[in-house]
Amino acid sequence: MNLLVWPVHRSRRAASWRVIALAGVLSWAPVSLSMAQNLPPAADGAALVSGGLPGLGDVQGMSIAAERRLGDSIARSIYRDPDYLDDPVLGDYLQAIWQPLLAAAQARGDVPPELSERLAWELMISRDRRVNAFALPGGYLGVHLGLIGVTENAAELASVMAHELSHVSQRHIARLVARQDRLAPWMMGAMILSMLAARANTEVASAAMVGSQAVAAQTQLNFSRDMEREADRVGFGVLTGAGFDGEGFVGMFEKLQQASRLSDDGSFPYLRSHPLSSERMADMRARLPLEPARPAVGPLRDAPTPVAAGLMLSLPVANSAPVVPELHALMAARARVLAENGPDRLRAWLQSGQGPQAGTGELYAAAWAAMRLGQTDRALDLAQRLRLQVVPAVRWAVDALLLEVLLTAPPGTTPSASERAERLVALRDQALASGRRSLTLLGAQAAQTTGEPQRAATHLQSWVVQHPRDALAWQTLARAYQAQGQTLRAIRAEAESRVAHLDYAGAVERFKAAQALPAAQRAADPMELAIVDSRLREVDALLRASVADE
Ligand SMILES: [Zn+2]
Repeated sequence: MNLLVWPVHRSRRAASWRVIALAGVLSWAPVSLSMAQNLPPAADGAALVSGGLPGLGDVQGMSIAAERRLGDSIARSIYRDPDYLDDPVLGDYLQAIWQPLLAAAQARGDVPPELSERLAWELMISRDRRVNAFALPGGYLGVHLGLIGVTENAAELASVMAHELSHVSQRHIARLVARQDRLAPWMMGAMILSMLAARANTEVASAAMVGSQAVAAQTQLNFSRDMEREADRVGFGVLTGAGFDGEGFVGMFEKLQQASRLSDDGSFPYLRSHPLSSERMADMRARLPLEPARPAVGPLRDAPTPVAAGLMLSLPVANSAPVVPELHALMAARARVLAENGPDRLRAWLQSGQGPQAGTGELYAAAWAAMRLGQTDRALDLAQRLRLQVVPAVRWAVDALLLEVLLTAPPGTTPSASERAERLVALRDQALASGRRSLTLLGAQAAQTTGEPQRAATHLQSWVVQHPRDALAWQTLARAYQAQGQTLRAIRAEAESRVAHLDYAGAVERFKAAQALPAAQRAADPMELAIVDSRLREVDALLRASVADE
């Protein structure tokens, strides 16, 4: 698909990482991207192109390192965008899909070790309620809430992610970007950022201004149809190799095709152009294994091509996804409620969860709606009802919901403060010991709320040792330190959270603030001070390198 999909104006609040879809699965037709006409030849354009011999995995002149640097500079801006959403619960779910896909791609040889190590392979969630997903340079992949909310099972969601992953692994983005050899890296980054929402008072807005000049231009930057076909073909292998049902691809395509028959209200952006959808659907159907119990759905299904037949023989095709199916209903409900702000919609969800026939997804949405409407008792009741209905493997997600309800209960509502604290304590320790990111972070908040910041800090310290790029964990740790009066450690944790989001300038400022603390505070923790000094030197070097890049 294309680098940039939608026009920059938009009609409603909707969110927007307007779309960067360097590789939005959902837009499978080549879409042209205009870029600046008459741009002066970029003096430093060669920086994007590797000077020496191409390394393993380098494609047509663009090195893996250059692609990663470009991706990092774009990611740095996205982290600051209000539509960037670090939702730990959805994050845990997406990782449960993403990691098997990545492992399958590695096992198949689609992602050679050098690409594995040097690209980010990081998932980001956008609050955007429109249906889309996209890949950025450097191995950053974005998933919209709208996509998660509209999928019916994990395999459908996984099919989109597998397609995007394959655009990255097949170096499609590198090839597109390398083709633009007249563009400096900063121009390329600005162009991609121009598709982000231009909001007043944000750095993204100023980047978007630069980009909008670029959009006035002529140069084409397309994924070719061959690239789309390749992302489908490789993605199908990755999907089934990871143990997901290959039907996920077909189900997703059918969903999109159905939506295309309705008028395009902008909620399915890829509908702006998708002439390949029938062909793609037929191709994916041809790849599915023939199952005796299943009626054939078309001539292609009856007569798979030799290529498809070979693919079927060489890949393990499992019928059950590695993700507990029931979890998807809860997570799709969560994505829908997270994308919604209107009180009318919240009341409607609350209503539909009241009936005796309410399914798990409806109960989840109703509990969430009750929480947002400040009806804590009702939210707790609904969550308890839900907990009794779900299979044990899914209870963690309901525990996370219970913690969220208790942590956000407005003061003065029922349950009483003491009852609330009691319930938080009951959930807290199990959450902290779970090993799940979402529960660790919620458990840490609970520990803090119940007056035990030390307990929160202990667990978070171990967590960030294992996951040093977890910005939210560092932020939560900073609050736990602050609550204990450990200002030096709190400031360093804030600095680390900025490093994790590639904000090196902000981190350097925080490290310097730590060094400038009164002598007594610095002297109280000489070990931490030594860490601050050495981290400042390291991050300052990263800052210089990233400035030189741009
Ligand atoms: Zn694509």
